[in-house]
Amino acid sequence: METLMIEDLKGLLKKVQGFIQNELLPYEQEHQLNAEEDIPMETIQWVRKRSRELGFYGINLPKEYGGQDLSLKGLCLLKEEIARSGAVLWGQVIGEIGGPLRIGQMLESFTEEQKQKYVLPIVTGEASCCFALTEPNAGSDAFSIETTAVRDGNDYILNGKKHFISAAPYADFAIVIAKEIVEGGKGRITAFIVDKQTQGKSGFELGKIQVPMSGERIHAELLFNQCRVPASNIIGAPGKGLLLGLKRINTNRASHAAGFVGMAQHLLDLSIQQAKTRVQFGRPISDFQAIQHMLAEMATEIYAARSMVYDVVEKIDRGEEDRAGASMAKLFASEVTNRVADKAVQIFGSQGLVKGHPVEKMYRSSRMYRILTGTSEIQKNTIAKELLKA
Ligand SMILES: Cc1cc2nc3c(=O)[nH]c(=O)nc-3n(C[C@H](O)[C@H](O)[C@H](O)COP(=O)(O)OP(=O)(O)OC[C@H]3O[C@@H](n4cnc5c(N)ncnc54)[C@H](O)[C@@H]3O)c2cc1C
Repeated sequence: METLMIEDLKGLLKKVQGFIQNELLPYEQEHQLNAEEDIPMETIQWVRKRSRELGFYGINLPKEYGGQDLSLKGLCLLKEEIARSGAVLWGQVIGEIGGPLRIGQMLESFTEEQKQKYVLPIVTGEASCCFALTEPNAGSDAFSIETTAVRDGNDYILNGKKHFISAAPYADFAIVIAKEIVEGGKGRITAFIVDKQTQGKSGFELGKIQVPMSGERIHAELLFNQCRVPASNIIGAPGKGLLLGLKRINTNRASHAAGFVGMAQHLLDLSIQQAKTRVQFGRPISDFQAIQHMLAEMATEIYAARSMVYDVVEKIDRGEEDRAGASMAKLFASEVTNRVADKAVQIFGSQGLVKGHPVEKMYRSSRMYRILTGTSEIQKNTIAKELLKA
């Protein structure tokens, strides 16, 4: 059974490699796609449709949702391979950005009606969603959110602002975490589905596009000004909003880490190629021990990060709760990728500094990994808390 599973995974990886090399990368080249420019929605739809036909899109979901109930390990292997390709649209292949990966672990919290109306279009790739927790005054300290929800008959009225929300510019609905004001109480954290259909009509607006140093134009503010949302759009139950986030926190951190390892490996692949072909002082720079040592250090750190990621992922797949392990994997993989990117720039010399060069772009992206999905300091806090538990 185990052998069969490994064979299945190998087949899946081969299939995804075939798709990337024979379809996705040639498509990106033909259409001269650039990650730092607006990507047309038709392009995103094309990747999703093709990826769904091949069985990758939403592969983590249960079979009744068209997925394959893929283990977290399988998902991470797939994600690492896709990230390693350096494809501009890598995040769309398994639905990382605005797709099924956003809702995977929350699936059972949606009502049947919400599943039909909101979840199924995500699964088929026709619609996109975003997860909106962070606010200008509530980053690492998620409990301090200031977006409020007040009951008004069968509706809730939302007021507040979210920022740095991935996929917000093209999301058809947002999962918005708000503080529900309860009479006499301190307020409870509740999750709401806010439909784009109501944008501009009911006090819901897309705010500024926020372009981080990676240059991508896929993060934005969401503004709520007396925004009316039906009570039937609550996910789970009132007061269970943060639980929704916590449910996905370990898998989310581990799966992000797998993507970081994929990028680090891509940087190493490019660096080896460069070292073998760039000639200085009459010989390839790979002849110099200084370059060899950098490559060796990169490979060693990637190996350690990868081993850590799959160790924790296997534990999560076995049903073990390993909060410290998931945080260690996110912390270590993000810091390793950043160090690997730094060495790759060094090996590429001035070429690696040119704006738009793949190594230069990854250097900027990898710096962000130490902040998103919980900063390195927050991961250390989690690890220490587990260590010091009574
Ligand atoms: C590219 C990108 C995409 C994102 N996508 C989303 C998204 O889709 N949805 C969403 O809701 N959010 C998203 N975020 C927001 C992200 O989750 C936050 O940026 C992150 O949680 C950190 O919050 P902050 O940026 O406000 O930093 P702050 O919390 O202000 O932290 C500033 C500094 O203080 C440190 N610090 C804070 N508290 C402590 C502490 N207790 N102990 C030690 N050090 C501390 C931090 O580590 C950091 O160094 C995204 C961010 C980025 C960059």
